[in-house]
Amino acid sequence: MSGWQDDAQRDLIKNVGPRMELLTRGEGAHVWDGDGRRYLDFLAGIAVNSLGHAHPVFVEAISRQAATLVHISNYFASPPQLALAARLKRLAGTGEEGRVYFSNSGAEANEAAFKLARLHGGAARPRIIALDNAFHGRTMGSLAMTAKLAMREPFLPMPGGVEHIPATIEALEAAIDDSVAAVIVEPIQGEAGVVELPEGYLAAARALTTKHGALLIIDEIQTGAGRTGAWFGYQHEGIVPDAITLAKGIGGGFPIGAIVTYGAASQLFTPGSHGSTYGGNPLGTAVADAVLGEIENAGLVENAALRGAQVRTVIEEVGSPLVVGVRGRGLLIGVALAAPVAGEIVAAAQRLGLIVNAANPSTVRIAPPLNIGDAEIAEFRTLFAAALAEVEASTPAAAASSTGATTADSGKVPA
Ligand SMILES: *Cc1c(COP(=O)(O)O)cnc(C)c1O
Repeated sequence: MSGWQDDAQRDLIKNVGPRMELLTRGEGAHVWDGDGRRYLDFLAGIAVNSLGHAHPVFVEAISRQAATLVHISNYFASPPQLALAARLKRLAGTGEEGRVYFSNSGAEANEAAFKLARLHGGAARPRIIALDNAFHGRTMGSLAMTAKLAMREPFLPMPGGVEHIPATIEALEAAIDDSVAAVIVEPIQGEAGVVELPEGYLAAARALTTKHGALLIIDEIQTGAGRTGAWFGYQHEGIVPDAITLAKGIGGGFPIGAIVTYGAASQLFTPGSHGSTYGGNPLGTAVADAVLGEIENAGLVENAALRGAQVRTVIEEVGSPLVVGVRGRGLLIGVALAAPVAGEIVAAAQRLGLIVNAANPSTVRIAPPLNIGDAEIAEFRTLFAAALAEVEASTPAAAASSTGATTADSGKVPA
């Protein structure tokens, strides 16, 4: 049955490969395809559906606000916008001085971060430092901060000033000076294959940026909203950044992004210096405020830590020779493989009724809803073990053992 594939081929821009399924419905941690087949969704729209699908709190918030006030432009404020801004300041611990700007996506949040860096740096500080393997989005400014050359090359020239350096403290020490406006990092590089920063990196980056008067901007678009077992990934390190960018999990599926600033960085934007017609609209902010409220009320940050540990244990207990390590934190997990068979594992899992994702050829990414429980983890164990077994059977043992315990992009597999 490929009618929908033909439609997609004919009508959709070819910016992605063939879609894997036609999905028609979701409930909790499950989605259904057009033939009524059920899948356990351990990708959650790429770490987006924090509460799973069709959660009553999400449905209630979107319905109520849709019937109340959806869009008004930023000439006006609305109660949900103010409530969400106050909640984000509290969760991010900005204190009184913090400020929030709302966008509609992650890339747009990082565009705001790019402009924040320019406002801070001016002519005297033209440089922006980002990390090798970084992913910050696909719009021109966020793309300039994204590391992968293949993504940037067709669109050269990039907005100027961005440099990529290895994710080591030594490389940052060597690169930073008083001509740097900002350093931008992801606490865990999700798109690169769930790769953690080295121990102590954020503390060192904070010290070095402070010493040289540069902003430290943390891209929390994938790691934020409780996913790693803290509200924001940087909070595991006990530092205070100058800005964090958010999207994905804060909306639980509704498109919304934000930049939250701390201290003096909160005064850089002035009237007219940035804007978005839709950003901070009542509908999006009402939904995100309800999603974050449910994460708070239901203890889902703690649940992400607890369930993340359980998922890791399950993966270790399955004991596949294809698996050489598990990276990540909380419910952002990268399964490091002994061979570049992530695509095969994802395809086998999907045939069996499990959705996971190949973050790169040798890493399977797992990012389920934050509210999963014992039942979902038990189902995951059965399906993931079966998918691994299928691929083991078709992968020559030599291929599995000869490539060794490294991943293609990072070469780093913490135990
Ligand atoms: C997804 C992601 C982005 C881009 O967000 P979009 O909403 O797709 O524009 C930026 N940074 C990180 C770390 C991401 O994971």
